[in-house]
Amino acid sequence: MVTIKSQKEIEKMREACKLTGFVYQEIEKYIKPGITTMDLDHFAEKIIREHGGIPAQKGYPSGEKDVPAFPGTLCVSINDEIIHGIPSNRRVIHDGDVVSIDLVVYKNGFHGDAARTFVVGNSTPQKKKLVDITRQAFFEGIQYAVKGNRIGDISHAIGEFVEKNGFNVVREFQGHGIGEEMHEDPGIPNYGKAGRGIRLEPGMTLAIEPMVMIGRPDICVLDDGWTIVTEDESLAAHYENTILITEKEPEILTLS
Ligand code: MG
Repeated sequence: MVTIKSQKEIEKMREACKLTGFVYQEIEKYIKPGITTMDLDHFAEKIIREHGGIPAQKGYPSGEKDVPAFPGTLCVSINDEIIHGIPSNRRVIHDGDVVSIDLVVYKNGFHGDAARTFVVGNSTPQKKKLVDITRQAFFEGIQYAVKGNRIGDISHAIGEFVEKNGFNVVREFQGHGIGEEMHEDPGIPNYGKAGRGIRLEPGMTLAIEPMVMIGRPDICVLDDGWTIVTEDESLAAHYENTILITEKEPEILTLS
């Protein structure tokens, strides 16, 4: 079901989303070579709880009998890992790693969802381009996130932009409506035809999240049942914000 948020609900969304943005502001200062992905996870969880939030991905069911619920506050996905990487004490972040982080904060009954990709330490032009194009794809997409347009207009803009720049989007995962539930309707693919899908209305809150790989757009799931990787081991990046459809320009709720 697509939910239209009231002014009161939008205020609560703003708070959850603001905390999500704040966590990234702190992570940006903290992330460095030598720390583990579990260090990052603990760091984020502490900030969220100190500010009255709950890490919403922690304990999130996999939907599959033999795969346990997600154990972390953050999804931390490195290099060829695209999304849903599980934080670990054994996973050290190295100089030059492309680290994609996804975080959902629950506060006051509402969710704020955002993702960022950091190149830790020394980068290369190709890594920088990957991260920049992924981020820019989000901004290309939300130019169309205005009242009266359709979901397909956003999807089309993201997919076209990424492919025009020589990379590919993940097709098996997509953005989504968000609010009292972490995942609400509509689904928002990162590719598709303009003019298709539901019409955008003020009060809709949407998580728009380009997932981009340098190589072929084929993916695999690791044995942990969660981590999604590129099949050809090419590097991947992820960028996401929760936005609000308004009478005018969209409002980005999770910016730091
Ligand atoms: Mg997310």
